[in-house]
Amino acid sequence: MSEDTVAAIATPIGQAGIGVIRVSGDAALAVADRIFRPKPGRDRQAPTAMEERTPGTKRPSDFASHTVHFGVAVDPATGEPLDEVLLTVFRAPHSYTGEDTVELSCHGGPAILRKILNAALDAGAHPPEAGEFTKRAFLNGRLDLAQAEAVNDLIRAQTDEACRVALLQLEGSLSKKVREAASTLAGILARVEASIDFPDDVEEPLPEDTRASVSLLIEELNALLATADRGRVYREGARVAIAGRPNVGKSSLLNALLRQSRAIVTPIPGATRDTIEETVNLKGVPVVAIDTAGLRETPDEVESLGVRRAEETIERAHIVILALDAQAGLTEEDLTLHARMAGKRVLAVLNKADLLSEDEIGRVLDDAAKRLGASPTVVSALTGAGIEALEDRMAEMILGGPALTVESAMVTNVRHKRAIESALAGLSHALQTLDAGRPVDLLSVDLMAARNSLGEITGETATEDLIDDIFSEFCIGK
Ligand code: GDP
Repeated sequence: MSEDTVAAIATPIGQAGIGVIRVSGDAALAVADRIFRPKPGRDRQAPTAMEERTPGTKRPSDFASHTVHFGVAVDPATGEPLDEVLLTVFRAPHSYTGEDTVELSCHGGPAILRKILNAALDAGAHPPEAGEFTKRAFLNGRLDLAQAEAVNDLIRAQTDEACRVALLQLEGSLSKKVREAASTLAGILARVEASIDFPDDVEEPLPEDTRASVSLLIEELNALLATADRGRVYREGARVAIAGRPNVGKSSLLNALLRQSRAIVTPIPGATRDTIEETVNLKGVPVVAIDTAGLRETPDEVESLGVRRAEETIERAHIVILALDAQAGLTEEDLTLHARMAGKRVLAVLNKADLLSEDEIGRVLDDAAKRLGASPTVVSALTGAGIEALEDRMAEMILGGPALTVESAMVTNVRHKRAIESALAGLSHALQTLDAGRPVDLLSVDLMAARNSLGEITGETATEDLIDDIFSEFCIGK
């Protein structure tokens, strides 16, 4: 693959100050030679400091690594100028991909970007596959697999916390932990295998020593695994369904959460016939909040469709907000709805608190707490009172604990979680093998399986299919 030189637009297609075309591969500089003509800056005729240092350099293939040059992008066949550009040169191995790379920063218009990309393709580059730049970086050892995945996470991150988690992973915090575990494991394995290979010279390690080392490793991996559920929520976000009888204020609650008015608010019951989704930043967790249609039996066909969709939404949600009307108090219909949410994590919310006195609210709360088994959160979607506290409780329920600042390595990716689980399974099997006093050959099989599972995270033992799968989720220019 890396014999090919690839070129792609690296910035979004749209109107912007600048757009970037990236070319990577053995022929990147040769491609640049054909499509780039250096020229002195508009307001100065004197050569640049760079040109002074390297007199007579005219073509990109003469330019030093990590230098930027002003010039014109041209059609390689006709020499027609396409745009004024800045050309940045990165020579192998000191580039993102580890290969010779040039980046042309042109004006950020779709037509210009396409023209310059076509010029690069005409000059000998090929279009890349999705994620190919990062895949090359991985194959050339610039990033390991978990770091490469973090690049994609970072691009897709919707909140500060999601960015922070991805950046930590990109900087190698997770890889470091996994590598340390893998290296401990390799040490245990080496002692076991040496005793198998050289039975006369090397004694079998004492079972209690091996057991102690393996147990310690299990503890460490379990600690890492414990971050997985929170980590995943930061990376993937969570779904919150807002359910309740018609007119209790579901749309208004969604609006209060959004602090903007996208959902339809209307006093006619059953008017929210479909579900409305919005993404909110909830204490750093990207949350899709869904306003469901009134969950009730109805003769109206269109509405009953909405009811079915609401049920599906609730089924798929991480948590469900059961909205209650403080003025109406807890009704039989509310209780029926609550019963239908059995098995889900439900957060009851008493809305329209602005319509009642504190005493009255106290009475409704007591009644609700008794009949629902938990005290609802009191809010007013209208005035915004209690919404902040509601957000705290939602975040706590989604994260399984209070929201924290993200500081250390976290497992955010289901693939990594599964690999750690499978390594742990191998290690506990190793303990059983030890306890049963079975031959060390079997022990070595268990340990090796665990080591391979860990290697899948950083990529050392990942199969080609797995690697292809991972990079196919990237965008073309990354
Ligand atoms: P939905 O059918 O459950 O989505 O309810 P809506 O959000 O459409 O609200 C129904 C009615 O209740 C509207 O007239 C809202 O203005 C009103 N409403 C919603 N929340 C509050 C609140 O906190 N206080 C008061 N006083 N009225 C509210």
